Amino acid sequence: MSDQARVQRIWQQDDRTLAISWTDGRKSLYDVVELRRQCRCANCVDEVTKKRTVNPDDIPESVRPVKIESVGRYALTIQFTDGHRTGIYPFERLREIG
Ligand SMILES: [Zn+2]
Repeated sequence: MSDQARVQRIWQQDDRTLAISWTDGRKSLYDVVELRRQCRCANCVDEVTKKRTVNPDDIPESVRPVKIESVGRYALTIQFTDGHRTGIYPFERLREIG
């Protein structure tokens, strides 16, 4: 993933939509609630069985990002209003689901 497009800009498009523009000119939109539900961190997915340990239905529609930070050049961490802060979203994956 060395020559992969990187995040140019991240902004909140509207109340529950996160927008990312990429260095190759592409723009992706994300439903923030969906991002929270798809989190693959160790708190949300069992590392051994790879099964989701958090029921997506338990995540309220009202969840919103509080803080978004980039981790080096390959991923974002998103802290959510439900207190969840361990989610890591690799750019590669964001490109896929955007
Ligand atoms: Zn998580």
